[in-house]
Amino acid sequence: MTREKIEQSIEEIFEDISRIFKDIEDGSRDNLGVTRPSYGDGENFAHRYLSEYADELGLEVTKDASSNTYMTLPGQNRSAPRIIFGSHLDSVQDGGNFDGAAGVVAGLALIMILKKLNITPVCDVVAMGIRAEESVWFQVSYLGSRGALGALPEGALDAKRIDTGRTAREHIADCGGDPDALAQGKAYLSSSNVKFFVELHIEQAPSLIERDIPVGICTGVPGLFMYPDARIQGEYGHVGTPRVYRHDAAMAGAEFAMALDQEWARQEANGTQMAITFGRFHTDSAAHGMTTIPGEFCFSMDVRGYEPALIEHMERFVASTVQNIEANRNVKFKLGEKRAAAIGFTDQELEKALYESASKMNVPAVMMKSPASHDAGAFSAAGIPTGMVFVRNENGSHNPREKMSIEDFFQGVRTIIPWLLDEVTV
Ligand SMILES: [Zn+2]
Repeated sequence: MTREKIEQSIEEIFEDISRIFKDIEDGSRDNLGVTRPSYGDGENFAHRYLSEYADELGLEVTKDASSNTYMTLPGQNRSAPRIIFGSHLDSVQDGGNFDGAAGVVAGLALIMILKKLNITPVCDVVAMGIRAEESVWFQVSYLGSRGALGALPEGALDAKRIDTGRTAREHIADCGGDPDALAQGKAYLSSSNVKFFVELHIEQAPSLIERDIPVGICTGVPGLFMYPDARIQGEYGHVGTPRVYRHDAAMAGAEFAMALDQEWARQEANGTQMAITFGRFHTDSAAHGMTTIPGEFCFSMDVRGYEPALIEHMERFVASTVQNIEANRNVKFKLGEKRAAAIGFTDQELEKALYESASKMNVPAVMMKSPASHDAGAFSAAGIPTGMVFVRNENGSHNPREKMSIEDFFQGVRTIIPWLLDEVTV
């Protein structure tokens, strides 16, 4: 296949793809940005819009028990393991248009290019719109992809959406899914029916912008453990109480966060990449006051890393730090339910192939670790060869100012094309 023909097909779909992004944004616009809650209105809109678009393109459109959307270009051998390009269609509250959606639209773009090139692939090629990746809504990671992979963690269907208070089970049923089937844990996707999973995603850090390179090839997705609803129980008291009599829950929370932050700095100084986030960190507004020793302190904690040994170390570190602070400050930690997701190891051969593929199209690309977690992590944990392509993006993500140019989006798409053509033609 000549470069010229590929470039021509990109040119022919450029306007269509720009319009898709604009339509999805317009249909899920909120006050400041876009809001597509997991198993909620904005997400439903994006699934419906893309399903209709795919239907008009003549693709097969199907759903699974998690109500993920599959837009399939049928291959010559329908029973051969398929190649899936996908990402999530939900967003955080007042988020940006590209975090997630870009990966689904990339799948459609690749299929549109195959069609322009008159190629019937040897196996099915699928653009997958995944549900509920943003853990902020149900405080569970990868709800949609792990549902498809038959790998939902214990209790996931009973998790409540933070804004509605209703369970994942109820929301999934509302959106046309089948929570009872999910509860049985049957895998709709597995390493026996998926040959590759490739996720294009905007970069959420500024490293590609700073290096002035449009594309990154991912070499790993972090694993994580988190405590969504942790609490420290102390005792409310008068501001004049001497130190020795205090049970100050807020000071205990501050000491805990600082201890973890210092451990993070120590790990980083030794060359180990990781991240710790206290997304919520507060006293109880119904009981706190300027002259009151805080008797209760609430926080959420999210710890991520790329090595199993580091994750284990951090779990032990959390436990020992809790013990020390409890003893020194007369408080009690209630970390609450722990949630976790496995480390995503990208497929090294696929990484290499995507890097070479980029150079065939003269796309400047670098190898890099993913700072954030992604659905790709769930596919890799299920033993499916997985790759990720990051696209340069300004202003970070999870905010309305995220800014990926459509030109850069197509640099990400270009990166995949020669590899895909090798895989789907004989
Ligand atoms: Zn994302």
